[in-house]
Amino acid sequence: MRRALAGLVVAALVLGGCTDDDPGDQPRADPSSPSGPTLAPSTAADEPPGADLDLALSEPVEDALYPQVGDPGVDALHYDLTLDWEPTAELLTASEVLTFRATGTAERFQLDLGEPLAVSDVTLDGEPVEVEHRGKDLVVLAPVEEDGRYELALSYAGTPVPAAAPTTRSDFSTTGWTITDDGETWTMQEPFGAYTWYAVNDQPSDKALYDVTISVPSPWTGVANGELLDRVDDGDRTTTRWHLAEPAASYLVTVATGDFTMTEDESASGVPITYWTPADQPDFVTALQETPAGLAWLEERLGAYPFDTLGVVVVDSESGMETQTMITLGDTEYATSPEVLVHEMAHHWYGDQVTPRDWRDVWMNEGMAMYLQGAWQAEAEDLEVADVMDYWATFEDEYRAESGPPGDFDPAAFGESNIYYGPALMWQELRERIGDEAFWSLVRAWPAARDNANADRVDYLAWIEERTGEELTDFFDAWLLGETTPSRDTVVE
Ligand SMILES: [Zn+2]
Repeated sequence: MRRALAGLVVAALVLGGCTDDDPGDQPRADPSSPSGPTLAPSTAADEPPGADLDLALSEPVEDALYPQVGDPGVDALHYDLTLDWEPTAELLTASEVLTFRATGTAERFQLDLGEPLAVSDVTLDGEPVEVEHRGKDLVVLAPVEEDGRYELALSYAGTPVPAAAPTTRSDFSTTGWTITDDGETWTMQEPFGAYTWYAVNDQPSDKALYDVTISVPSPWTGVANGELLDRVDDGDRTTTRWHLAEPAASYLVTVATGDFTMTEDESASGVPITYWTPADQPDFVTALQETPAGLAWLEERLGAYPFDTLGVVVVDSESGMETQTMITLGDTEYATSPEVLVHEMAHHWYGDQVTPRDWRDVWMNEGMAMYLQGAWQAEAEDLEVADVMDYWATFEDEYRAESGPPGDFDPAAFGESNIYYGPALMWQELRERIGDEAFWSLVRAWPAARDNANADRVDYLAWIEERTGEELTDFFDAWLLGETTPSRDTVVE
């Protein structure tokens, strides 16, 4: 997620000369008949789920901060969602097939699904089963056996209602399925809120694969994570099919519906990129065309982009989210700025490829994304990264005092600035302690070491200690759990 407040922008580091206002440089945009590499037929989605589902095996946990969402008894492997959106009536009509592994033998199991959605036709492996839908808890009254794999199918319909976000941030107060005045929709759902529009194990330790089909009135388009397999306009409605080939946590899932223009681009490394911008706001394409340059900068430091495709969808929001392979950005100048693009792309290594097991450790995402953003900003302005960190240090103590230590924050204050700046400063201190070469080697190796998996603080910090041969427990405890900012530049023992 991007940082909370416009006031956090480093005023002295405002970038100049980075945008290209010449529309003649834009890649072709052809919303009516997309073609090209991003639409090449894929055999993966046509295969029955099964063969590749092991990629999505997880060890789900109960969240330390938000135990009311998620059920560690369920290990979701694949969500197949078919969504039909009727903007005038604000009606979502959907069907879902969830393939999952039961982590234990139980008489029943539970998913999260918004209360306003009425559930019908529930079957488990083809047999009708009863459910109890109380609040957002969808309890399926059917026994499951440890390590058994099951296919739960259900239909649901209604007008989704966003969830209250456990935060005091200024750029968002609710999460999940959000409906604009025009009936367009978008989702941002960190730390939870996917359940406002599908039945889900809504906790980050349970990554899963996705296929999403979206039907909307033409000329609107439904956008989701992954590769666009096809887009069919029957003159009345447009249906898109999306396939996400690597597992994602539910907070990294995105769906947006509206009148979008698709523009194709490509990174220097050959990653196909699509921009989905509001048809009545074409200027956003120019801003998004900074994506390949930002990605090249990150790939130089972090290695190859860890997914097959990349996209950006611009929606009626003020925030931004690193939704996996399809970044969701608000339609503001700041949310579509080069530094925010770098930040959200950095999350594709730190957050998407390796994901916190529990929300206690969201600093693992934001600290490194912020550090990389700061390093990018420094380079763009011909400054030392230490200068940027010195500036950030002038307000870090205040954020820490307000919202708690980055690794032990108040659950009602999710995503505040304390999880961004303190951990970014910590990485700079580690860099100065172990040297540039060792530092960048660590930064590059960690996401690949936990590819498509989850990690927690104990796992991460033990890995760093092993790689560096340094005893760092006190150092990390001070930065992550300390009530006050540790003194800087006094790290050499
Ligand atoms: Zn972020």
